[in-house]
Parts: sequence; structure tokens; C-alpha cells
Amino acid sequence: SRDQIHYFGAGPAPLPTPVLEKAAGALLNYQDTGIGICEISHRSAQANQVLADAKSALTQLLDVPDTYDILFLQGGGTGEFSAVVYNLVSIWVEKRRRRALEDLTIALADGKEPGSKEDLNAKVLQRLKAEVDKELKLDYLVTGSWSQKASQEAARLVGADKVNVAVDAKARNGGKFGIIPPESEWSLTPRKREGGPGSALIYFCDNETVDGVEFPSFPTSITGHAEDDVDDDAPLIVADMSSNFISRKVDVKKYAVIFGGAQKNVGNAGITIVIVRKSLLPPTAALASPEVLRAVGLPIGPIVFDWATIAKNDSLYNTLPIFDVWIAGQVMAGLLEKFGSKKIQGQEEISRQKANLIYGALDKYPNVYHVVPDESVRSRMNICFRVHGGDADKEKQFLAGAEKLGLSGLKGHRSVGGIRASNYNAVSVEGAKKLATYLEEYANNK
Ligand code: PMP
Repeated sequence: SRDQIHYFGAGPAPLPTPVLEKAAGALLNYQDTGIGICEISHRSAQANQVLADAKSALTQLLDVPDTYDILFLQGGGTGEFSAVVYNLVSIWVEKRRRRALEDLTIALADGKEPGSKEDLNAKVLQRLKAEVDKELKLDYLVTGSWSQKASQEAARLVGADKVNVAVDAKARNGGKFGIIPPESEWSLTPRKREGGPGSALIYFCDNETVDGVEFPSFPTSITGHAEDDVDDDAPLIVADMSSNFISRKVDVKKYAVIFGGAQKNVGNAGITIVIVRKSLLPPTAALASPEVLRAVGLPIGPIVFDWATIAKNDSLYNTLPIFDVWIAGQVMAGLLEKFGSKKIQGQEEISRQKANLIYGALDKYPNVYHVVPDESVRSRMNICFRVHGGDADKEKQFLAGAEKLGLSGLKGHRSVGGIRASNYNAVSVEGAKKLATYLEEYANNK
């Protein structure tokens, strides 16, 4: 039964039992309406409350400033790989179009540019196209499989020539992920004031689920676009926090966009949460029209990934799975209740404690276990290691022994093999202790 198992799956991942018990009731009869939560309209008063509660819980947990909007979307983390490109490129293009329009209007009036007013639009598009071809750059820090996938999606959408892989951790580490090269070695696109074109965005994955690599803290050398300076040419900082969402304190203001699929720390698969700076949404920001994007050869994103549309409709542009939002809301409300005024710092302490227990046991037996990533970038969430140098039979035995004790979901990602203990919020300290004990017992018996 459920209470005999400690589940370390990487996502979908364990959910708090009290939330699931409450969900069982809500599925049948939500708030005594005689209708289940999956059956109520996404436009009902109850659904609106579910949304408002989930937003409020997240706002409290992460101290999300009111200059940010919280959106719920579908399409998973993968959907946001594309959405990031569509939305931020569109903003970049419209900013440049307006600048070109302004410059050329003046130049035509002053006679510095040949032609008449009727030529203005064509001239603007011509200049814009040249800028897109030459100056549109998206910086990606590739530190693991997920940021790599995101960078590949960007290249698929806008062309590889526009994607600058500023960090290629695999190339720096003998063909395997497991390090984050020092910031001094990153080749970010130079800013305008440094004589470069400046990059539209800097993208990174805060925690690499497959490779067990986590940024220890926000990179110190990157300066993002300042919220209160619309003319700032600094890049927009985007972070994928799918697998370490709400597990530590985050200075939201440093980011333009934070996103994460729900199915690890927050809820069940089905929704993606996006925290986006309001100045990147209308009325402050303007998006390029489909006609302009078409004219300059850039892709037009699906409307369901259009953050402006989703924000304007309070995440209800189309049918949102309210049950999924409810689960996420319950999980977050549970954390607020558990940690009180400590809020996310309470969870951060426990996550650290559990990770230390597990890494501590692994480090004690270097002849048996090898932690895959470098010590400086070990993930608190996904603990990736090999047993006996990755001997397939021995790893199988290790997993079988764990299963016998009710320690499940420990198999590594199919692309890299090995063992991965995912230490998400719903994994208890007791579960981490039990795993640590098993690690010791296994090592001592061999
Ligand atoms: N980013 C990270 C860090 C992930 O771990 C995952 C999924 N494991 C994704 C993105 C992709 O998410 P999805 O499967 O929801 O598209």
C-alpha cells in the first residue's frame, strides 16, 4: 500500500497523500455541489476561486512581486521551450520595428532618406528584415539535456544562426553533462554598449532533471533587463525551473520569465506555470503583428502559447484543466501551512537536509558509488549516481534490493542510465533516511 512505499520518481512524482485523499472526494463531489471538480465549468465561480487560490499561494511562497503575472498553460515544459521563443522574439521584433519606423519617419521628413511617405512601411520592413538577419540572437546556457532540447527548439523555430550556445557544458566535460563551466568562460552575445548586437534573451535550466546538475545560485555575471527601464538593451533572463520549482528562495525580480511544468514539485502533469514580468505583456510591451513576422521570415506562434492572450483572459482563453490547478493550489497551500512565516525557506531547509542525507551516504563509499555531476553543481532535486562504475548487472541488483524495501522509482533516465533519486518536496525526510540507510547497507554487504 501507499504508506509502505517511498517513491523517488523524476516526474510524474509523488504528491502529498492528504492532497490526494482530498482530491478523491473532490472528484466525486466538489464543495458539496454534487458535481465533481473535473466536471465543473472552467468559467464557474468555483473555478475562478481555484485559480485565484493557486495564484495567491504561489505569490506568497515565492514573494512574487505584483509587477509579475502568473499564468497557467498546457503543453508542458516543452511547450514553453517554443513559447519563450515566440513571445520574446515577437517583443524584440516589435521594439526594433518601432525604432526603425521612428528613425525612418524623421529621415524621410528631413530628406536624409530618399523616397516618399508611401514608401515608409516597405522601408521599415526592409530595415527590420536586415536587423533580424544580422542581429537577432538568443543565448542559451546548455548545461544538460533539457536546456539542450530548449536550444534545439529555438534553432528549429528561428534558425540555428540565431541561437548562440553560450555554454556547452558537454563539450567542456568530455562529452558528458555534469559541470557548469565558470562564468568567465561563457560566450554571451556582447551587449550594444560593448559593440555587439545584444541578445534578445538568456535562457538557462535551473535544474537539469536528467543530469542532476543544478545552478547553485543565480549566475552573478549576467545582468538582466531592468524592469523599470524600457530602453535597456540588457537581455531578458528566462529560467526553466520545472524540476526545482518551489524548492528554494528565488529572487523573481531578476528574471523576465520563470516557467515550470507542474508534475514534479507542484502537482500532476497537465499544467505549466509561467511567471512573467508584466512589462513584457501589453500594454507596456507590444508584440509584432503576424504580418510583420511573416514579412521578416519569423514564425507565428500558436495562440494558446501567446502569453499576452493567456494573461488577458486570466489563463482561461481556452479550457484550462481546473483539477490540475486545484491540485497545485492544494500542494502550495499545504507548504504555506506547514512552514508558516518561513514560507519557501522552510522547504529549502528540508530539501537541503534530505539531499545531504543521500549525498552523505554516497560520499562515504567512493569505491561503490560515483555521483555523476561535479560536486559544485550537484542537484538537490535529482541525485544521479552510478553503482560499481555503472556495471549493468550490479545496478540492476541495487534497484531490485531497493524495490524490496519499498524504495521505488530510482532508475536513471533512459538516455543516461544509472540511478537517479529524485528528492522532490513530497519525498519525506523519513524516505530520504531510509534511502541513505539502504545505500550504507548495500555498500557494506558488497
Ligand atoms: N524541463 C525540465 C527541467 C524537465 O525536467 C522536463 C521534463 N522532465 C521538461 C522541461 C519537459 O517537460 P514536459 O514533459 O512537461 O514537456
